[in-house]
Amino acid sequence: MNVGAAWRGVRDLFRKAGIDTAELDARLFAEAAFEMDRLELVNREREAVPAKQLKALEAFAARRLKGEPVVRILGEKEFWGLSFKLNAATLVPRPETELLVERGLEVIGALNSPHILDLGTGTGCIPISLLTEYSDVSAVAVDLSAEALEMARLNANRHGVGNRFTTLKGSWFDPLEPGERFDLITSNPPYIESAVIAGLMPEVREHDPRLALDGGPDGLAAYRAIAAEAGLFLAADGVLLLEIGSGQGHTVSDIFVGAGFAEVDVVPDLAGLDRMVVARLNSA
Ligand code: GLN
Repeated sequence: MNVGAAWRGVRDLFRKAGIDTAELDARLFAEAAFEMDRLELVNREREAVPAKQLKALEAFAARRLKGEPVVRILGEKEFWGLSFKLNAATLVPRPETELLVERGLEVIGALNSPHILDLGTGTGCIPISLLTEYSDVSAVAVDLSAEALEMARLNANRHGVGNRFTTLKGSWFDPLEPGERFDLITSNPPYIESAVIAGLMPEVREHDPRLALDGGPDGLAAYRAIAAEAGLFLAADGVLLLEIGSGQGHTVSDIFVGAGFAEVDVVPDLAGLDRMVVARLNSA
């Protein structure tokens, strides 16, 4: 079978299955299975495909036909212009989370050798993106999952910032040394109400790790845990940036005001929905 016939065969299967992005998905899988870029897939259309590569394509197609999202099958996702490797223990990086990187860069851009902390790091996309922008930043990334931390480590090394990136396994602030202070603390914690998870899109519900989504009965458990201890680890003029769900602006702000933060702002995303809380212990 030649290259062109192979990927078109997969495309036709996807079309029959009612997949809207049949052609795009088939091309992406063929590029990965055949180790070709977009142009090679066209220029080398008549080349015979080695049996092993054809098998790889068929395996990708079978997973897609069972409803697995393309990014999960390919095992990587672009975020902040960088490619992040994923596994079953990591949430797929979402474009709205780039808002934390944008604001984080504003915070650390003004500082000398800032030290940052990311809680529930997953792929490590937030701190690694920040590290790639400034060479004097160091980061600590915490996650409950050893498998997630493996991905974060791999991603940091891949993007050339591994020597400034430390991973620690544990819950929120637990694995940190008392007295360590950070200029910036970021987190995209789980914030979906437990009861709502069953109604999420299948790509999310069945393929993103529940640990990264489930925010407890009211979706706010992670914010309470972070608020309880953040003051012990934030530098005096440090900033806390947290992703939140749409509609959680008021409740999450109240939690941080209640924990003694002097300044708490809610920032909307491009769609105008509550997406981030910015909290400072002391007024700027
Ligand atoms: N933004 C994710 C979603 O809507 C949720 C991620 C999270 O809980 N932090 O699926």
